[in-house]
Amino acid sequence: MKYDVLVVGAGPGGSTASYVLSKSGAKVLMVDIKRKPGVPVQCAEFVPLQLKHRFPEFFPQEVISQEVKDMVHFTPWGEVVSMPSEGFVLHRDRFDANIANLACKNGTQLLLRARFLGFEDGKVWLENIDRREKFWVKADFVIGADGPRSKVSKLTGEHTTSFLATAQFTVPLREPIGDLLIYFRDYIPGGYGWVFPKKDLANVGVGIDPHYPVNVMDSLRKFFAEVASEGLVEDRILGRTGGWIPAEGVKGPLRGNVLLVGDAGGFCHPITGGGIANAVYTGAMAGEAILQDSLEDYEEEAMDLFGSTLNRAARKRVKYMKTWDDLKFIIPRTWIAFEEYWKEE
Ligand SMILES: Cc1cc2nc3c(=O)[nH]c(=O)nc-3n(C[C@H](O)[C@H](O)[C@H](O)COP(=O)(O)OP(=O)(O)OC[C@H]3O[C@@H](n4cnc5c(N)ncnc54)[C@H](O)[C@@H]3O)c2cc1C
Repeated sequence: MKYDVLVVGAGPGGSTASYVLSKSGAKVLMVDIKRKPGVPVQCAEFVPLQLKHRFPEFFPQEVISQEVKDMVHFTPWGEVVSMPSEGFVLHRDRFDANIANLACKNGTQLLLRARFLGFEDGKVWLENIDRREKFWVKADFVIGADGPRSKVSKLTGEHTTSFLATAQFTVPLREPIGDLLIYFRDYIPGGYGWVFPKKDLANVGVGIDPHYPVNVMDSLRKFFAEVASEGLVEDRILGRTGGWIPAEGVKGPLRGNVLLVGDAGGFCHPITGGGIANAVYTGAMAGEAILQDSLEDYEEEAMDLFGSTLNRAARKRVKYMKTWDDLKFIIPRTWIAFEEYWKEE
């Protein structure tokens, strides 16, 4: 079969690209290994308010779990730093499914349980996972939206090799809270712990640099014990998840007729791990560049909008987070909530 665009991955990046392309009449095939877009959820589920302004149709009431106002940081030296962080904690499964549905309603053909295998002589090889059958399609353009461990990225050039390892429990909150809580701790090396509220529940997780000799589950258990003993959450685990977060910055998003979006292109913040909005924006930009037949614009715009910020954060990670000893020195230089972040390179 011949398509205008093959989109690999039906996360927020791939589905947004498919949606933008299909709305303008492009013939799009989107494939994903999953049975259902967005399931299982591997996310703390926060997105900033600005994303809703740009794509209101991605935010029907049922995808929002709760609104949040601020991000409050708890340091090991006792300082508490708050910064405005208006946005939403989502039902991420519903959020992803809604964008994929919008793409399909506009004409995208979605093939689930289909794995991208590789390129060969102008063909793209895929596999029907359930039938274990390989097949190929042709497409004028390929969008690699296949997440942090992107195979499209690996097969086309430079790809991310450093990641944050994460683990998360979903647990009942004792009292509702209206902010995102961030904890820096010596036992969460190269990262942080989070408590993100979802009405009467919370996502309680940690992200660590896996180069440190600390097991991510041990780190999470310790963090969960700390926030449970503070009386913030109940000592009862309702769900578990985790995953990898690219921590290196952006990797050349344009490779011939292949465009990388979202985590596949490293468009995830190497320190905070935030990547949903960036995936949506880069997905839209890649789709628009294809429609306008101006692929170079995609690379330029994506680098302008995200490259310098994300690469700066990646450099800070390398410069300051290789050791995890003097947190009072490291944290203010690596988090935007602190004045020192803006002073130092
Ligand atoms: C624990 C955790 C917490 C996070 N919390 C937040 C948060 O609160 N806020 C935030 O903004 N970001 C968060 N992130 C990051 C965020 O989840 C990602 O940045 C975001 O999902 C990127 O979207 P994407 O579309 O690029 O990739 P993904 O959402 O990863 O989608 C990629 C898709 O590609 C599919 N795929 C992979 N390989 C293949 C293949 N070979 N063939 C076919 N399909 C394939 C996958 O099944 C998947 O559906 C978190 C990440 C983790 C792990």
